[in-house]
Amino acid sequence: MRKIIIAGNWKLNKTIAEAVELVSEIKSQADGVTNVDIVVCPVFTALSEVNKIVAGSNVGLGAQDLYWEDSGAFTGEVSVPLLKDAGCQYVIIGHSERRQYFGETNETVNSKVKAALAGGLIPIVCVGENLEQREADKAFDVVKDHVENSLKGFSADEMKKIIVAYEPVWAIGTGKTASPAQAQEIHNFIRSLLKEMHNDEVAESMRIQYGGSVKPENAKELMGQKDIDGALVGGAALKAESFLGIIKNC
Ligand code: PEP
Repeated sequence: MRKIIIAGNWKLNKTIAEAVELVSEIKSQADGVTNVDIVVCPVFTALSEVNKIVAGSNVGLGAQDLYWEDSGAFTGEVSVPLLKDAGCQYVIIGHSERRQYFGETNETVNSKVKAALAGGLIPIVCVGENLEQREADKAFDVVKDHVENSLKGFSADEMKKIIVAYEPVWAIGTGKTASPAQAQEIHNFIRSLLKEMHNDEVAESMRIQYGGSVKPENAKELMGQKDIDGALVGGAALKAESFLGIIKNC
């Protein structure tokens, strides 16, 4: 049985004080929830203060990106040891906004996943097609390219630690959600790719989250799909009420 994982990607939002307020509310209302893994991913500057609130609780902490070198002359970057020092257990890698605006490629994603695994962080690796690609009937090709190349070269044991997030770009922040059937179709396809790359055991044990306008109202039906094991949530993760609504509805 794969445990549902709901992660909030706060993107470029929240001051330290706002982040502390939000996570305090999430933590107190999620107290006692044991059947869902809960993760919050604030901006780098708020990680350490948020960690002071969630440390030792059932709310995990994640970053939104990393650099693959540990230290050195890499101005502006943040590494795995520094994220661990700030209290992180998870890291989002290859989000479509990073692919779109910051030149992230399958190759850089692959290097980042390698570094995260080597340093003991759980990578949440984002894959997914944009609107143009979906309309051109290329969704499966794009997802195959992202999965095979971003996750190239890992052992079966390493793969089992990785979480994949399928995020159709056309559904991110747009209010347009993939229908449960559309999402399930791609999730099932991703699982079949993981099986081809490794084996049944790897494919069946890996968690695949859905992301794209997930809200309390659509969470239950999405999470009820056979191959959907959680959600990566953007907009609705910025308010305790909606984030907790999603957790309660799955
Ligand atoms: C995201 O950015 O990962 C995301 C899924 O955003 P939203 O929930 O706002 O669509």
